[in-house]
Amino acid sequence: MDLRSVCVYCGSNAGSRPLYAERAAALGTRLAREGLAVVYGGGNVGLMGIVADAALAAGGKVIGVIPEQLVNWEVAHRGVTRLEIVANMHERKARMFDLSGAFVALPGGFGTMDEMFEMLTWRQLGLGDKPCAFLDVDGFYAPLVSMMDRMVAERFLHAEQRNDLWHGEDIDAMIGWMRAYVPAQADKWLDGKRRRELR
Ligand code: AMP
Repeated sequence: MDLRSVCVYCGSNAGSRPLYAERAAALGTRLAREGLAVVYGGGNVGLMGIVADAALAAGGKVIGVIPEQLVNWEVAHRGVTRLEIVANMHERKARMFDLSGAFVALPGGFGTMDEMFEMLTWRQLGLGDKPCAFLDVDGFYAPLVSMMDRMVAERFLHAEQRNDLWHGEDIDAMIGWMRAYVPAQADKWLDGKRRRELR
């Protein structure tokens, strides 16, 4: 696929260990060097600010999409290439989806999970067909991936959907996977037989 921009979901906190910040900066730098615009939540805090600053420092384009409420809390990054202020979280998610060719989650909390799982949910319903990756840092996402495997084993999630996402720690491998991505067929997922299989 012709990949031009990557949406980064990540913590509005920087996490407990310097490694999280290091990997966030490495991702921002790498995306910029690849000529890929960074789309993100527009904050100047935590891993979000670190990704944005690193991409900007490497000469990259950074588009922040932030709801008014967060601008009022003064957490908006004023140095990004473009800051889009939207009315609420729903608008923000839709706008980030439209602007992005792929999605990556760095470590984060509820906000990061919410955003990433919404993309995965849209995709399995056939509403989106863009690659989704969990860029792990020192096994942070291993328990979540185990949970997904359990969802498959217990027949709550189809293996095709589970296998349609990328999980790993190597940024180059992730970008290569995104560029080569061919979406799984949502109509296979939605046909009656598959639905019965999950019952
Ligand atoms: P969390 O993982 O709970 O820290 O939430 C991070 C995600 O939620 C980011 O990808 C943002 O899109 C959004 N978010 C949460 N807090 C903020 C904030 N203070 N400023 C901007 N975006 C935020």
